[in-house]
Amino acid sequence: MSELATATRSPELALANLYERIADCPNCPLARTRTQTVPGAGSPTAEVMFIGEAPGQREDEQGRPFVGPAGRFLDELIGVAGWTRDEVYIANVVKCRPPGNRDPEPEEIAACRPYLDEQFAILRPKVIVTLGRFSMQRWFPDAAISRIHGAPRHLEDGRVVVPMYHPAAALHNGSLRDVIIEDFRALPGLLAEARAAEAARRDAQASGATIDDGPARPLPGQERLI
Ligand code: SF4
Repeated sequence: MSELATATRSPELALANLYERIADCPNCPLARTRTQTVPGAGSPTAEVMFIGEAPGQREDEQGRPFVGPAGRFLDELIGVAGWTRDEVYIANVVKCRPPGNRDPEPEEIAACRPYLDEQFAILRPKVIVTLGRFSMQRWFPDAAISRIHGAPRHLEDGRVVVPMYHPAAALHNGSLRDVIIEDFRALPGLLAEARAAEAARRDAQASGATIDDGPARPLPGQERLI
């Protein structure tokens, strides 16, 4: 679907159309082993989008992302930020389960990328939270999650991307639990910043003025990106 077509449909209709096409997708080898596709779930008007890695066994059975223990912890983390799962949007970089829960291959991630791009175009989230290394690589290639977790990157279009540990990491390593919780506590403030930046851009466009952002400077915590 073209960006124009996406922009002129309601988010609900556009997502429903996208889910139909994903359900029939034959574009990578994962199509042969999946039970069903797991396109994504949540509010069509969400301002915050979480991106995980790939469906696991339970997700493959139920067709929903982040069910099971990691999903329950993600629900708890979303609650720490003051939200519910129904208010945000959750998806994965690949929409079909890799056999045996192996890592998704680069070719599979590339084949599935247009669907994730379309989800971005439909939702236009103000804050994107990557969960784990596969979704992080898109914006933070070669970075180590242990060094950059929780540090926001502001994109040119005003969106904010925040790399986070995958919730499953805390299930394997209990010492990460408090780290992840603290990172999630910062999300409401980042959303408020993104909303303010968008409002300022709209006002500037309406008045015909240009915005001088001044020299780029790291936000609190962003120095960890370096
Ligand atoms: S993982 Fe993505 S590209 Fe591969 S078959 Fe599933 S929907 Fe299609």
